[in-house]
Order: sequence, then C-alpha cells, then structure tokens
Amino acid sequence: MRRGQIGIIGGGIGGIATALALHQIGVPVIVYERAACLREIGAGMMLWPNATRVLRDLGLLEQMVARSGPNTHFLVRSASGRILMNIALGKFDVPAVCIRRTDLLAILLRALPSECVRLGYELDHLKQARGKVQIYFKNGTTEEHAAVVGADGSRSRVRSELFGASDPVYRGYAIWRGLVRYTGRATMPGYNSETWGNGKRFGILNTGHGDFTWYATANVPKDHGDGPRGRKKELQEMFAGWHEPVADFLEATEESGILKHGARDRPPLPRWGIGRVTLLGDAAHPCTPNLGQGGCMALEDAFVLARCVEREPTLVRVLRRYEFLRRKRTRHMQQRSQLMGRIGQLEHPLIVRGRRVVTRLLPARIFEYNLRRIYAYGIPG
Ligand SMILES: Cc1cc2nc3c(=O)[nH]c(=O)nc-3n(C[C@H](O)[C@H](O)[C@H](O)COP(=O)(O)OP(=O)(O)OC[C@H]3O[C@@H](n4cnc5c(N)ncnc54)[C@H](O)[C@@H]3O)c2cc1C
Repeated sequence: MRRGQIGIIGGGIGGIATALALHQIGVPVIVYERAACLREIGAGMMLWPNATRVLRDLGLLEQMVARSGPNTHFLVRSASGRILMNIALGKFDVPAVCIRRTDLLAILLRALPSECVRLGYELDHLKQARGKVQIYFKNGTTEEHAAVVGADGSRSRVRSELFGASDPVYRGYAIWRGLVRYTGRATMPGYNSETWGNGKRFGILNTGHGDFTWYATANVPKDHGDGPRGRKKELQEMFAGWHEPVADFLEATEESGILKHGARDRPPLPRWGIGRVTLLGDAAHPCTPNLGQGGCMALEDAFVLARCVEREPTLVRVLRRYEFLRRKRTRHMQQRSQLMGRIGQLEHPLIVRGRRVVTRLLPARIFEYNLRRIYAYGIPG
C-alpha cells in the first residue's frame, strides 16, 4: 500500500501537516497548491492542547512554543472591562499557545522536503479509474495518484467534485482581524480574552514577544461592505468606549492589515469520501471560529490519517477508517462552535443583560470541565 503515492490538494495548515505526517512514516506525498507561493494570510490563532499534542508527535513542539505566546487562562469580559468569567485551562501534557499563522505554516514547511510541494497547481477536476485517481489541473497538466486528499479549504473543489457544488452558510456576522505590537499594561501574560457587547465581540490573543492578534465581530448582513471612511474607522466607531486596550489596538493597526471575513460554515457531511478520494480540514468540516478549533481539527485529521495508513491494509480502507474516526468529533465541534457564535452575537439589550448575569454566576468549572474533555483528545490507536 505504501508504494502508492498520495496527492494532497491544498497547501494550507491541513494539507502541509498531512504531507508531513505521511512523509514521516515513509509514505510518498505531493501537495498541489494553487497559489504561486505558500503564505498563510490571517492573523494569529489559538492552538489548544489537542493540537499541540499533534505538533509534539510531529517533533515540532519546541519550535512552536518558542514562536508563540502562552495561553493559560481565557477571560470573558463585559464592554466596561469587568471580568464575567475566568476560565483556567488547567494542566496538560502539552501547553496551549497562540501563534501567528505565518509562523505555524513556516515551521510545518521547514520539516517537509521542498520537492513534496508543487506551487501554481490549481485543481480543475478528478477522475477515478482502475485503482488510480487522475488529477487535472488548470495549468494543463495531469497527475496520477493512488489516493487523493482534498485539503483545499471551505470552498473545496474536491468536495464539489465528490458531492456537488454548494456555498458555505453565512451565520449572520462578520469577523475582522489584525496584528499589533503592544507593550502597555492592559494585558497579562497567559491571559487571552473575549469581550461581549450587544451583537459585537472583541478578542485579544497574545502571540508572544510583544505581538498580539485581535479580532472583532459584529452582526451585519452578508453583503456588508466597508464603511465610507474605511474598515479601521468603522471598527473604531463600533467599539468606541470599550475597555483598554481595545482603542489602542485598533489605533495601532494599519488599515491595509485589517482582514474581514463573513462567519461561515457548512452542515456536517454524512460522508467525506468516495473510492480513493477523501476530504480533510475545512474542506471536510468548515467551522465558525468561535472555539478556535478549525485549524486544530485539521491537525488532528492529519495525524489520524497517518495513523490509519500504518494500521490498515489497503488505501481505500485507510480512507474509510479515517473518515469514521473523525466524523463524530468534527461534527460536534462544528455544532458547538455555531452555538457559541449564536450566544456571543446576541444583540437585544435585555437578553444581553441576562447573558451577562448568567455568565457571572455560572461557575467557570462547568466550562473548564467541557473544554478539558475537548483538549484531552488522544489520537485513536
Ligand atoms: C477569523 C478566523 C479565526 C480563526 N481562528 C482559529 C484559531 O484560533 N484556531 C484554530 O485552530 N483555527 C482557527 N480558525 C480556523 C482555521 O483558520 C481553519 O480551520 C484552517 O485554516 C483550515 O486549514 P485548511 O488547510 O483545511 O484550509 P485552508 O487554510 O483554507 O487551506 C486551503 C488551501 O487550499 C488551496 N486551494 C484551494 N482551492 C484549491 C484548488 N482548487 N487547487 C489547489 N489548491 C487549492 C488554498 O489556496 C489554500 O492554500 C479561524 C478561522 C477564521 C476565519
């Protein structure tokens, strides 16, 4: 089975981590990425212990920790800055961290031989015949592999080849993100936070070495454009009067560095693959970002797939076993993330007041217990 080379469509976190996990157990892989250079856009991201455990097993934990900020507590705050809940993440065999996406991708890429990645290859369509998958690219070339993994993101072409085209579902709010350097005193090492207002949230993540990522959310229609005076001004108006250092963060961010996305996901798929093709990461289970678990799930997928390659006798059995092991967990994460988004985006002042009271009164232990169950995930043997 190992004689068959696996083709991976998409060179994001999921595709590169999968290539690395397979390469480390001796499986030949090629990643095909449509972009001309590999670059993660986006700000920073949280990697919880379920993901850093995968990175440890890939031999990358030390480098990762050196490039990231610690993540020991998560605060939920009101717009005035009052702490409504202080969630302690607890002790695990591996740390939780916040890292810049570019750093994560660079660390994964450094561990993978460069000949495993081909740039400028955009998938057009696939054909399965006689125990092979033929991959047709928009640059006119065709390649053949024993199996193909679609790691081509939430608008996956592989997914639409398998199950037909459809659009991700807009969940009613937009997310803006940026990166800043901050040396003020309004943050504490290890403490990241999300502040809840009426239909708006502001999150602060420390990615280490004086660098921070922030994100802001607001309920807006799907076709919401930028304000007439630009993104930065619009956000400064939306979050005027919020606690420190929200205004400082927005002021310190360049207009051109502010990214904006609609919050989107898709309903869980009943199956992820057909024959010798499967899906991985956002292509299989795109998630709203409310739990910070989308990329973590892609890392888990990568490792589980490699584990299945070691255990199953044929490639088709590898793919089906991998899908079976991953579907329930990722569906759970998609659903919980969507629910957290609905709670976070509540807008009516009375309901928001009720949420504030309940959040203050609820013991953080309940959340800590639930989160620890997510973080304790061990790769199935
Ligand atoms: C605002 C926001 C905040 C988030 N925060 C977190 C967080 O804190 N923690 C976390 O774990 N996750 C977070 N996520 C989720 C995380 O970003 C995604 O789950 C993760 O990037 C998915 O990786 P992927 O490799 O599956 O897909 P992608 O990162 O989308 O990569 C897909 C790759 O496929 C390529 N591609 C697409 N089509 C083709 C084609 N036809 N042919 C060839 N190549 C193609 C693309 O160019 C891209 O390089 C967040 C997401 C958002 C939007």
